[in-house]
Amino acid sequence: MHNVIIIGSGCAGLTAAIYAARANLKPLVIDGHEPGGQLSLTTMVENFPGFPEGILGPELIENMRKQAVRFGAEFRAGAVTEVDFSHRPFKIAMAKESFEALTLIVASGASARMLGVESERKLLGYGVSTCATCDGFFYRTKEIAVVGGGDTAMEEAIFLTRFASKVHLLHRRNEFRASKIMLDRAHANEKIVFHTPVTVDEVLDVAKGAVEGVRITNTDTGKTEVLPVHGVFIAIGHDPNTKVFRGKLDMDANGYLKTHDGGRTNIEGVFAAGDVQDIHYRQAITAAGSGCMAAIDAEKLLEKMQQG
Ligand code: NDP
Repeated sequence: MHNVIIIGSGCAGLTAAIYAARANLKPLVIDGHEPGGQLSLTTMVENFPGFPEGILGPELIENMRKQAVRFGAEFRAGAVTEVDFSHRPFKIAMAKESFEALTLIVASGASARMLGVESERKLLGYGVSTCATCDGFFYRTKEIAVVGGGDTAMEEAIFLTRFASKVHLLHRRNEFRASKIMLDRAHANEKIVFHTPVTVDEVLDVAKGAVEGVRITNTDTGKTEVLPVHGVFIAIGHDPNTKVFRGKLDMDANGYLKTHDGGRTNIEGVFAAGDVQDIHYRQAITAAGSGCMAAIDAEKLLEKMQQG
């Protein structure tokens, strides 16, 4: 029987683990499909307070993990396959083991959708990014591309014009999912050049280990061209990792967990932290903050349970 089980080992889960471990709760952390979360897929992080020279994402996450271990957190590799919240203790099953817990912190994150082009994966963190707020600063006076036709793509394209000399907006259709106001704003921005309907065939140049261009094809005309960009921002949406909680925890239309009064879900004793419940900010520091809140709330609830 565990006091607290934390599902997910990204920034939110590890911060929750540090706080829960320091409260002597001996948390168990289940790593999940992407151990370390999105930070482990990035390179330099320059906006996490406390690192004036920046820190590599994987190093930051490794530090957090060591910090959690130092105070007594335990880890299990693998993903949760089933949960039962019908009564306490909650039951959490993995492929080969199952656990019981008095409280649970869901920090399973959201995964950025990718185009599925091989070069995109290989250059992720080396010019291909899924976060304009994190990486825009690296592209001062450079040409870059943003892929997507939703609000995120418009928001990121507009934000990136602060740094880039030109932003190529690449979308697969002529119609946009983005709200009219965001689309109008992007159209009105002289630095943004729209390319539709286009597919991204390849990000160049894997051999050089850096982005030097993107090859696109116009699906109406069949014309192919290479845009001389130094960064490619993939902004085609995120998928919250909540499949296993469907029908058990309240979610919004996009599958993000609904929280109230901090990280409380609709089940007392089940808390949520980080991107799994945050479609809006999606930052390492906000994920860490919400992980801290969830751990403190779990601790308070356990204290209340003990008092009867
Ligand atoms: P969306 O799902 O709204 O849009 C995703 C976009 O990416 C679509 O244009 C889609 O194209 C395209 N896309 C998806 N998969 C692929 C693919 N494999 N290849 C190429 N293109 C692809 O996601 P967002 O992240 O933009 O927005 C999510 C939610 O967050 C929305 O509800 C949005 O309104 C909200 N949001 C609001 C903001 C604000 O109000 N300021 C800011 C950011 C987000 P297609 O249209 O052809 O399917």
